[in-house]
Amino acid sequence: MSTGRLTIDLDAVVANWRALDGMTNCKTAAVVKADAYGIGAQNVSKALFKAGARKFFVAVAEEAVPLREALGPGPEISVFSGHMRGDTDLIRELNLTPMLNSVEQMTQHFETLPGHPFGVQIDTGMNRLGMEPQEWGALAELILSQGPKLVMSHLACADEPDHPMNPHQLDVFKQLTDGINVPRSLAATGGILLGPEYHFDLTRPGIGLYGGMPFDQATPVIELELPVVQIRDVAEGEVVGYGNSWQAERPSRVATVSGGYADGITRYLSDKAKLYHGNIPCPLIGRVSMDLLTIDITDLPEDPERLTLIGPQQTLDALATKAGTIGYEILTQLGARYNRRTYGK
Ligand SMILES: *Cc1c(COP(=O)(O)O)cnc(C)c1O
Repeated sequence: MSTGRLTIDLDAVVANWRALDGMTNCKTAAVVKADAYGIGAQNVSKALFKAGARKFFVAVAEEAVPLREALGPGPEISVFSGHMRGDTDLIRELNLTPMLNSVEQMTQHFETLPGHPFGVQIDTGMNRLGMEPQEWGALAELILSQGPKLVMSHLACADEPDHPMNPHQLDVFKQLTDGINVPRSLAATGGILLGPEYHFDLTRPGIGLYGGMPFDQATPVIELELPVVQIRDVAEGEVVGYGNSWQAERPSRVATVSGGYADGITRYLSDKAKLYHGNIPCPLIGRVSMDLLTIDITDLPEDPERLTLIGPQQTLDALATKAGTIGYEILTQLGARYNRRTYGK
């Protein structure tokens, strides 16, 4: 077996959902867009359903197909991107709840699926998705008369607790929605950590479920180990990999491991990441190529069979920082070639 082994701990996902749920006095949904951030939306949603989750969010209607198959007819599946032309059949057949983002989407929804469940997303300053406050002001009465399931907005800077954008968006959200008789939602993972005034009736964590920052108390969910394909001795002065980008300054032992940028191990990690043999760090040397990495194992007491890229010694977010990105991106780029071992509920 020469593909990397990606171990996914569903019990950790459940523990993270419960921990985030325990921080609030309201309901907790689960955001499972992008195949549950690469972790596997069907497995994740079934495990979270057993743990008590009843509301799930995806980014686009198509993502709800495997989800509805896994969850059956009961749980609510909501769609952040709302009701686009072309989504109507899926929304009806899978009984999805689109979060309407604009006047066009509202018209589309009310005309094609009158009486079908929906929610509304209002923009409170991020300027990404959602009705403008003026649109909401003009249409709120009409919309509320149609019985929305949820009114939501999204925070732009929730991963920075002291950012003035957080209280600003909270204030705008309250001004626009105080007094309405509909469940409200503002917080994703970062918003949950900001405190109770951000929680409203429903929270929408994603990354925290999967062990990523800003939820620093999260239980890690994945481990990624890469098998050693070949080991060689390299003399002082010899070079390794594409572009001759690494040169041995001492007689060295170099392991070639299976895994590369086609597996989501970005080229930005070239010469930066470490892989671990137990607690011993081994530098990734030279360039990351499509299928392979070269690792300096000179300081190991024995030849390893595999090396760990993501695990207790180098967390998801530590690796992301070395790559100049965030845990979200590392997770969602995890490749299709890995031998996935999903265990837990
Ligand atoms: C992705 C997303 C979430 C989940 O965010 P996390 O930071 O992963 O918890 C919640 N709400 C919206 C609108 C999103 O797009």
